[in-house]
Amino acid sequence: MKLFVPFLIKCCLLITTLYFVLDLFFSQTTVLIIINLVTISFLFINYYQAIHFNNWLDKSKINELPNGLGIWEMIFSKIYKQNQVQTKIQNDLNLTLEQFTSAAEAMLDGVIAVNKNDEVIWCNRQAEAMLKINLKKSYKRPIGYTFRNTEFNDYLLKGDYSETLKVYDFSNKKNLEFKISPFRSNMKLIICKDITQIITNENLRKEFVSNFSHELKTPLTVIIGFLETLDTTKNNLDEGTKKIFELMNDQAIRMRKLIDDLLLLSNVESNPMEDRSLKISSNKFFNKLQKEAKLINNKNHKINFDIDQNIIFIGSEKELESAFINLISNAIRYTKERGQINIKWSLVLGRPTFEINDNGIGIPKNHIKRITERFFRVDAARSRDTGGTGLGLSIVKNIIEQHDGLLKISSEIGKGSKFIITLPKERLV
Ligand code: ADP
Repeated sequence: MKLFVPFLIKCCLLITTLYFVLDLFFSQTTVLIIINLVTISFLFINYYQAIHFNNWLDKSKINELPNGLGIWEMIFSKIYKQNQVQTKIQNDLNLTLEQFTSAAEAMLDGVIAVNKNDEVIWCNRQAEAMLKINLKKSYKRPIGYTFRNTEFNDYLLKGDYSETLKVYDFSNKKNLEFKISPFRSNMKLIICKDITQIITNENLRKEFVSNFSHELKTPLTVIIGFLETLDTTKNNLDEGTKKIFELMNDQAIRMRKLIDDLLLLSNVESNPMEDRSLKISSNKFFNKLQKEAKLINNKNHKINFDIDQNIIFIGSEKELESAFINLISNAIRYTKERGQINIKWSLVLGRPTFEINDNGIGIPKNHIKRITERFFRVDAARSRDTGGTGLGLSIVKNIIEQHDGLLKISSEIGKGSKFIITLPKERLV
């Protein structure tokens, strides 16, 4: 409308001027005929340009600029320029998409994008190979139908993706690790890794350690037996030789402790036969623990037990006893003479909770994260001197994990340490 009114005024003025000019030379009828011819020609030209314009759009020869007359030339030129810009944006987008797809294809991990209904919208070749799926067939189908695994489905539905999920895919005989990252408002990127080789190596290593420890146990028992016999007759030996045999005996006992710990660790890690669903009464369990603590308390510590005797819980009595006694032994060993050790067993937020704190030497903050690793010690010499193997906390952590529990450690150098074991509600009777 904004353009049409001035255009209409201009046309009227032009026709009126033409009329008056022609009127000076020609008769009125001739003038009207000429004006009509001019108007018809004008309309015809515009109609022709409109058809031309329509053909140009239809033939999608949008990359060639057609010839136009007057205002039509400007229209063609503007559309042509806009189209050039759009084509460039489109090309850039295509290139970015291509680069992204190539990058995703080059990844060693499988990548799957799912929409808000968990339907597959895209996946790379690695994902197709790992999960034995086909993007064309699986497109817009729920990932749960395409890759059937109960643990994976539960993980997907749970919505808490802070930790990765490791599953064994029975149909493809593969160990897979999944990580999910939500993106945009309700889409998810599923990243999967084939960890079969890692798990195989890990199992081989565990098997080797377990077999090796077993093999060492028998000869070591014989050696310790002979050393003990020698020990009883050592009065016949001179002081130097006695010292040597005493040292041999100490080291052999240390080796036996190390082997026992290694065997215990491999048993906890890979013993599916261990029954972790036995009913345990706190009363009997902690009475035994209290007696053991008394026996190993060789530094005159005050050990205070605060036990909720009513708790009946479920687990492996042997393993849990081993875990708790390990923590008590550590508290005794890493606390100076006549220290204070407090042990509490209670329900915290409905969960059976074991808490032990000492006023011992403490653990440096930067070591707390690694303290449960095998053979990790803050001070190797101190650990050895007190009969440690560096495996105690690793055993504790494994036992607690096998019971679906959590181990929390806090400590302050020179002030003491606190270890808290929380078992899940399901382990309460
Ligand atoms: P170790 O046989 O050396 O005691 P653990 O696995 O039981 O092995 O413990 C690992 C390390 O953690 C120990 O060497 C020690 O440095 C530290 N640690 C464990 N418990 C305590 C504690 N209650 N107080 C101070 N340090 C501790």
